[in-house]
Amino acid sequence: MLLIKNGLVIDPSQNLCEKKDILIKNKKIEWVKSKITVDAECDIIDAENCIVAPGLVDVHVHFRDPGFTYKEDIETGARAAAKGGITSVVLMANTKPAGDNEDTITYVINKGGKTDIKVYTCAAVTKGMAGKELTDMDALLSCGAVGFTDDGIPITDAALLEEAFWKTAERKVPISLHEEDPALIMNNGINKGKASAHFGIGGSPREAEISLIARDLELALKTGAILNIQHISTKEGVELVREAKQKAARLGRNTIHAEATPHHFSLTEEAAIQYGTLAKMNPPLREEADRLAIIEGLRDGTIDIIATDHAPHSREEKERSVTEAPSGIIGLETALSLGVTKLVEENGFTHMQLLQCMSTNPAKMYGLDAGTLAAGAPADIVIYHPKKTWTAGNYLSKSSNSPFTRQKLQGVVQYTIADGKVVYRA
Ligand SMILES: [Zn+2]
Repeated sequence: MLLIKNGLVIDPSQNLCEKKDILIKNKKIEWVKSKITVDAECDIIDAENCIVAPGLVDVHVHFRDPGFTYKEDIETGARAAAKGGITSVVLMANTKPAGDNEDTITYVINKGGKTDIKVYTCAAVTKGMAGKELTDMDALLSCGAVGFTDDGIPITDAALLEEAFWKTAERKVPISLHEEDPALIMNNGINKGKASAHFGIGGSPREAEISLIARDLELALKTGAILNIQHISTKEGVELVREAKQKAARLGRNTIHAEATPHHFSLTEEAAIQYGTLAKMNPPLREEADRLAIIEGLRDGTIDIIATDHAPHSREEKERSVTEAPSGIIGLETALSLGVTKLVEENGFTHMQLLQCMSTNPAKMYGLDAGTLAAGAPADIVIYHPKKTWTAGNYLSKSSNSPFTRQKLQGVVQYTIADGKVVYRA
């Protein structure tokens, strides 16, 4: 048994924000009550001055395993997640081989099952993520895939995508999409505008994202698919999602979802100019008006999920030129602190709002048994100090590609508990 005492318990799934104790027994939440006392032998965590919340759920993660394990593997990725207070991850399918076949999905789930956290995975929408032919969705779901994505490679064939939408709608599983039309992109990862001008390159224009978001929201409304727009980066994209959510609501549906990454609500293209390839990601960091629109989207629920797009790359890869270096940054270990620093402290969000987007909502969209402290739920818990600060760095990830390194951030994970076991302690 484990007893967590004196913490401020915040559970968005029950709209609970009160000082309470939590008793954990047999890997489950036994009770959440005021002043629990126990006679039996019991480990006790004093969470005075800390927030005790459902373990975070990050639904956009690249562990690079199989195929690119010099960047990260399932074990190191899981440890980095635990340090970030994350107890459930959903992996993307752009491994090598891609997650388009039963063997790869089974490998990932089995290896993930040996870690301290819950490792789920999406399967690919198309074979080889080539955008030509759909995968065998039923076979991949029966191996345990929780949704479908070709993340990293936008799907340009609208007819094929519509077929995928009908199939995922029928099976009631989410389809998560990277929305950037490659036909409009000169160079990935750098915003077309001030940043591309700085580097003297063509860059990636906002229209590349806006056009695919518009197309796919239409298709989602037509088919009833559970659509998740990944890592939204433009103010126009946010507005399109807002309108589509209203239309879906009028049809009595809650099928349109959108993710924002911590870097898109924290940084602009100025960071690309300052940090170079360490702030190169797809879609790129954009303008201040976009960043502010993403924050307002998170505030009013248009964007319902915060996900990291944790994308480790080696130092050698990131030291290449701005056009040759791969896109993406790590994010598991800084996500909660960026939420506390940028959303709670700078923009007046409540911790409840933040945790809703980082735990309860993403768990619900993918149908995971997570994101709640209700009695009987798995004892997946993060305990964090909302006022303490730390300097980002010393990552447990195999990679360290982050523009946030050496920045002072607020909000420090003290304990991460998965299935009632302490899997990280500050
Ligand atoms: Zn992506």
